[in-house]
Amino acid sequence: MAVRLFSCPQCDHMLRLGSAQCGQCGAPTPPANRTPTHILGVAGLTFICILAAALFLR
Ligand SMILES: [Zn+2]
Repeated sequence: MAVRLFSCPQCDHMLRLGSAQCGQCGAPTPPANRTPTHILGVAGLTFICILAAALFLR
């Protein structure tokens, strides 16, 4: 089961994460597709690690 996170609102073409516009029709992608989620994920993971360390090392 493939999870389609982002598809073009105009032609329903599967969008590459982080691309500003559709590779097929050139329409602008949803703003959520342009946010670097992998960076947010890494930052979130780091934050959780720091939080866990702060809780355990008290
Ligand atoms: Zn498109």
